[in-house]
Amino acid sequence: MDATKPSRFTAGTLRGRPVRPDWTEAEHPVSSTSDPFAPWQGAAAANTRASQVTQTVRAGIECDDVTGCVVPPLHLTSTFAFRGFGEKRAYDYTRSGNPTRDLLAVALAELEQGCGAVVTASGMAAITLTGYLIPAGARIIAPHDCYGGTYRLFDAWRRRGERCVEFIDFGDEAAVLVALSSPAALVWIETPSNPLLRITDIAAVAALAHAQGALVAVDNTFLSPAWQQPLALGADVVVHSTTKYLNGHSDVVGGAVVAREPGLHEQLVWWANCLGLTGAPFDSFLTLRGLRTLHARLEHHGRNAVALAHWLEAQPNVRRVWYPGLPHHPGHELAKRQQRGFGAMVTLELAGGHEAVREFLNGLECFSLAESLGGVESLVAHPATMTHAAMDPAARERAELTDGLLRLSIGIEALEDLRADLALALARAARVLPQPLLRQAVAAC
Ligand code: PLP
Repeated sequence: MDATKPSRFTAGTLRGRPVRPDWTEAEHPVSSTSDPFAPWQGAAAANTRASQVTQTVRAGIECDDVTGCVVPPLHLTSTFAFRGFGEKRAYDYTRSGNPTRDLLAVALAELEQGCGAVVTASGMAAITLTGYLIPAGARIIAPHDCYGGTYRLFDAWRRRGERCVEFIDFGDEAAVLVALSSPAALVWIETPSNPLLRITDIAAVAALAHAQGALVAVDNTFLSPAWQQPLALGADVVVHSTTKYLNGHSDVVGGAVVAREPGLHEQLVWWANCLGLTGAPFDSFLTLRGLRTLHARLEHHGRNAVALAHWLEAQPNVRRVWYPGLPHHPGHELAKRQQRGFGAMVTLELAGGHEAVREFLNGLECFSLAESLGGVESLVAHPATMTHAAMDPAARERAELTDGLLRLSIGIEALEDLRADLALALARAARVLPQPLLRQAVAAC
């Protein structure tokens, strides 16, 4: 079987039934419901999602006509026998192609409404691969507050003269217009950004970038195609760390690049094989299994995140909360337009700096202090010393990544347990606040 063309579940069809193009804003406006816990429960949105939910649950199901197995088999082989001299089959070597990995690629391409995807060994491998779509020395424009690993890679390329990278603040319209007033090869977008959850207008930046001949890549890791589809908004490629929500169980490191055009997909396939960036079959199998519950998981993640973001805002020793679902978040209206969910990452700034951070973190029971995000279990990270430690202090300051910042990946545990854990942590952190600061904080609330 050639899994890039599964007989029953080909891209764009579900058991022969055409899958509707999933979503357009005009056709399915975001619900204006006043229920903050159910912002996307309008009938149109629910109907629209139904096909994507089914696609996700049934990805690769019953695709093997030989055995009829319902769950696709795991092809743990590095190589494939030729039929005879000069008679190659659909697959020859797992670095170049593997049926299990291809099932995941087809599923991801469908979810993102792309024409094809390449599954990679990590999110960073996906980002590296995307960089090979442009020539050596070409100009890349990237956000100053992108994921620390992306920043490190782009900055290393810049220092070695391999690419000409400019980091800009995508929230500064004038800076975007200046940067995109001259030709570029690649515009990198990460929205919501990590960790301050800034929202970039994908359609607007894509239009400017295309006018300068640039490809537009969007890192969609924080939302997944269930909550945002960048290709439908004008991007050329979508990048994922599948390590996060797509797999959702924190037991695989993986990535993917989804292309809008066949030409781009061909180049990605070629470079992934050439550089050896492709993902392992076992990881693909696990990720496909995790993917089936994506929408069910995100529903819980989203509800918990909205509730906790509102609650955190009211706590006296929390200086500020960043969550695109909060009405005062600078990207709230844009998020409502271009996303189908606000995400489940919540960032807060704690009063009291390093000491308060230490008290807050030591003793948490429902949040693990760990890098990463998007698993069913809740995690907390301190960006300045963990996810963004690769940024030098000046770059962190430009990106407003202060020492008091904490990033929460809200899991699907019981809301009351998460809230109780955070309440105790905030009480511990408050003990180290100097009295005037504490009084100030209490007065402000
Ligand atoms: N993109 C984003 C937004 C991330 O948060 C991460 C990792 O945290 C990556 C890419 C890199 O992914 P990976 O760790 O799978 O290489």
